[in-house]
Amino acid sequence: MSPTEPPIPVPPGRKRWIQHLPYLSLALFLAAIAALVWLTREYDADEQRTTLINDVLWMEQNLRFHLDRNEIHLQEIGRELFIDRPLAPETEARLSSLLNQERGLVQILWLSAEGRLLGAMPPRPEASTPAAESPTLMHEQTTFQLARSIGRPVYGPTYPGMDNTHHFQVHVPIWSEDAPPGVIVGVYSLTDLVVRELPWWFSERYRVAVLDADGREIAAKSKVAPVSSQLAYSMPFDPPGHGLTLQITAYKSDTRWIPVLLAASIVLLAGIIVWSVMQLRRQLARRQQAEIALRAESAFRKAMEDSMLTGMRARDREGRLTYVNSAFCRMTGFSAEELIGKKPPMPYWDPEHLEQTFEVHHRIMAGGSAAEGTEVRLRRKNGEALDALVFEAPLIDARGQHAGWMGSVLDITEQKRAREHARQQEERLQQSSRLITMGEMASTLAHELNQPLAAIASYTSGCMNRLHGDQPLDRGELLDIHERIARQARRAGEIIRRVHDFVRRSEPKREPLELNAVIRDAVGLIEADARKRQVQLRVELFEPMPAVEADAVMIEQIVVNLVRNAMDAMRELPPATRIVEVNSALNGRFATVSVADRGHGIPAEIAARLFEPFFTTKAEGMGMGLNICRSIAELHHGRLGFELRPGGGTIFTLSLPLDAESA
Ligand code: ADP
Repeated sequence: MSPTEPPIPVPPGRKRWIQHLPYLSLALFLAAIAALVWLTREYDADEQRTTLINDVLWMEQNLRFHLDRNEIHLQEIGRELFIDRPLAPETEARLSSLLNQERGLVQILWLSAEGRLLGAMPPRPEASTPAAESPTLMHEQTTFQLARSIGRPVYGPTYPGMDNTHHFQVHVPIWSEDAPPGVIVGVYSLTDLVVRELPWWFSERYRVAVLDADGREIAAKSKVAPVSSQLAYSMPFDPPGHGLTLQITAYKSDTRWIPVLLAASIVLLAGIIVWSVMQLRRQLARRQQAEIALRAESAFRKAMEDSMLTGMRARDREGRLTYVNSAFCRMTGFSAEELIGKKPPMPYWDPEHLEQTFEVHHRIMAGGSAAEGTEVRLRRKNGEALDALVFEAPLIDARGQHAGWMGSVLDITEQKRAREHARQQEERLQQSSRLITMGEMASTLAHELNQPLAAIASYTSGCMNRLHGDQPLDRGELLDIHERIARQARRAGEIIRRVHDFVRRSEPKREPLELNAVIRDAVGLIEADARKRQVQLRVELFEPMPAVEADAVMIEQIVVNLVRNAMDAMRELPPATRIVEVNSALNGRFATVSVADRGHGIPAEIAARLFEPFFTTKAEGMGMGLNICRSIAELHHGRLGFELRPGGGTIFTLSLPLDAESA
């Protein structure tokens, strides 16, 4: 018995925890991935912000540098403006170069120390009137005053210019030793300054706007593109100051596909992992269910095997025992541990039948046992004999390969004993039946024996007389007498041999025999009886009759029985008509012996019970004759039957196969 391993118990809490572990680690993994993606994006945003700030600082510096440089240029040119009048052509050229070099300057004015407009480039329409009426000029004045008083360049507030753009001014006081002091005013177009001064790459990335003190946008450089809501930066636009603010907003950059694809593939992979974990779990659950079913199945199978009375044992291809069930253990008396792994000779083999058992074993190993099973003699552990019927079938493993042999073993010890007992009984019965027959025939036989004995006695006394007499001895006559004596003695001996053969108790001995000779012997046995009963025996035998495999004495017994029954059936007939015909014949693959009479025949109600044991219609009958005859016929794979004889009487026919094996 292969011990089934009990499953190692797992505490329920731990089991649940282990079940959830993959999900937990998966969730942690996803969280880590999400954090990584978020951090990367944050880092990216930070970088963008740093870049923005750097760019803005650069721009601010650039603007400041630009304004400062313009101041210096204005200062330089201012000295010349206040000295030279009218304007020298170089000065004019420098002025126009200042205005043309896209420095944001749209006009340059120069005022006397008192604020009178001395000149303008390009000329100002209202320049002829030193006006207080123009609001622009009011601003100019304030700025002018301030510049004059502090002696340094001062930036004025913004104001709407003629071209609908906002302007602002820088008033640069000029001090020169060889010219009267004055103020040179540079008028900037805010839009020009912001738009033209910025390099292309800057305006590609950012939208630049200038807001006034009230937060209104008064100049902007932008293209039509969505702006980012997060990436914006504001800083005071000083100079020119006066509450102006520079607002820089980054354009929304093009979607950066690589990180997006990366994140998407991570999400996709995570999805696949989740899916595969779920599939794995489902698979696991299915396996678990299969395992439970298998365990139930094997428990069921074990219970079934344990309850079975048939012994089961499996052997591998080398003949080593791999499995035995409890019935087999009970049968042999050995435990599973004592048997598993054992190779032939097995401990339960009978040492006295070792050779035969080995032969059976090799035959089974070579190709399995016969369908009707193989009988073997084994020995139990306690020494008792065990007769077993073994059925063997090839053991095919899960891969479809021949792994060994599975055998079921039936304990037929009792059956065999009963069979043997029945056989002995039957043999005894046959013998007693023969004895009865002989007993009934004894007086006839004694009479039969008497004849040769009396003849011998009379021949012997004749001889003696000759020997005692005076007459010369005739050698020829004496020889003849002695031959007669010897013949009579042989005849008596023959009668005694037949009786002895018929009566002696013997095992059935099947050997090729000449059927006609057996019939003649049987007729010889019953001849004397027939004569006494005035029955004529007519024997007609088929020649040449092939040999049949049979026990001569048993066949003889049948013939004697049938002839006696025939004679019994004709008791009532007049002696002249009492004829029994004994014939032999060939009928296909059968040799037949028929015994025909002209007796009273067999009525249907008797016919049905004819072969039953102890059925008889005779006062002195035993009713065993036909029953035993049929058993003998069947033992020889033959048949015993009867039919009504046309014209009255019965014919009993015994058929014996010519070739016993094929019958
Ligand atoms: P028994 O001869 O002791 O009666 P058998 O078994 O030989 O036992 O025969 C059984 C019965 O069969 C006989 O009693 C007889 O009635 C019947 N029977 C047997 N042979 C013949 C036959 N040749 N003719 C008529 N009846 C027969």
